[in-house]
Amino acid sequence: MPCRGLAKFVIISAPVRDSINPPEKRLSATPHPSHANAAHSLDTLGRPLRDLRISVTDRCNFRCVYCMPKEVFGKDYQFLEHRELLSFEEITRLARIIKRHGIEKIRLTGGEPLIRRNIEGLVAMLAAIPGLDLTLTTNGSLLAKKAVALKAAGLKRITVSLDSLDDAVFMKMNDVDFPVTRVLEGIEAAAAAGLAPVKINMVVKRGVNDHSVLQMARHFRGSGHILRFIEYMDVGHTNGWRMDDVVTAREIVDMINAESPLEPADAHYRGEVAKRWRYLDGSGEIGVIASVTQAFCRDCTRARLSTEGRLFTCLFATAGHELKPLLRGGADDDAIAAKIGEVWRARGDRYSEIRTAATGSLKKIEMSYIGG
Ligand code: SAM
Ligand code: SF4
Ligand code: SF4
Repeated sequence: MPCRGLAKFVIISAPVRDSINPPEKRLSATPHPSHANAAHSLDTLGRPLRDLRISVTDRCNFRCVYCMPKEVFGKDYQFLEHRELLSFEEITRLARIIKRHGIEKIRLTGGEPLIRRNIEGLVAMLAAIPGLDLTLTTNGSLLAKKAVALKAAGLKRITVSLDSLDDAVFMKMNDVDFPVTRVLEGIEAAAAAGLAPVKINMVVKRGVNDHSVLQMARHFRGSGHILRFIEYMDVGHTNGWRMDDVVTAREIVDMINAESPLEPADAHYRGEVAKRWRYLDGSGEIGVIASVTQAFCRDCTRARLSTEGRLFTCLFATAGHELKPLLRGGADDDAIAAKIGEVWRARGDRYSEIRTAATGSLKKIEMSYIGG
């Protein structure tokens, strides 16, 4: 019997690069009027500065094969010294200054943000800045212990990374033998603490965990948590990325739709990274982040602040802009704001749209340092 989901799904049977955005959601080449009229600083492509990702540590207790492979991040790897990291006061000062340029959302990330001591103290300091949506991405390993304190400190929402429900697969991916159950406990603790809906990020790597896609979809369907599948990306230069390892968002949606019919759902806001798909039977939604096959640079409003205070205007940047010397050298807020405005206005990044063999050989910054 032909199902409604399949009928809807014809929409996405176009070539891959156009297939994940439902046709009515495709974006025009000209800047959106909301960008042009906004009070935000605009870059050379008319994009406002709306989101800031802050990496609070370059360290992590996992060694995910696609992010911090053990062969590179082994026991001899030189992580940053504590004195090199921005202090909570410095991070908060920068957040207040960058807010002048119109940022609406801050995501704390890393490395693993929950291993930074008293991270809830930083959350409380940032939560005191009015008008900011504050969230955090974690591998979930310490979440069962920290969820209540994070919520009490003012965290609004949380994203937890989990790449499989199968211990053997998950342990192979995190490469430190960390079991699935402890991450699931963290997810439930976060939801119980009121950090709901919890978003779950699953990076899909061909031949490694693609067979876990359906199991993950089944597990989280109807749970109230939102599962998001991320195409494996060529971030940094240590993960040995090959296009053949990428399971495309289209393949993922196809796989799930064949079992549980899906329909496209509206974006919550312009520039939302994940494309939303809703189960036709009302049992929830999934998201797909097609950063490789469906670049979304045109709507990219994100800047990243590295652990030691460099501002990056693209996840694939090869260099950042030093803010720490200004912070520690006595510059006033106006001077720092001016510098940030100058950096953003000069921005023309669109790496994912122009990804080629040549750009692939650039010495890019590691995601664990710049913040995922
Ligand atoms: N440690 C935290 C975690 O894993 O959630 C936060 C930092 S991590 C760099 C942020 C996100 O980036 C995670 O969801 C992770 O799965 C994702 N990520 C890391 N390397 C990636 C890659 N090569 N391709 C796609 N996503 C990646
Ligand atoms: Fe650590 Fe997150 Fe990178 Fe995995 S993805 S190694 S948990 S920073
Ligand atoms: Fe934004 Fe750079 Fe990613 Fe494009 S490649 S979406 S500009 S971070």
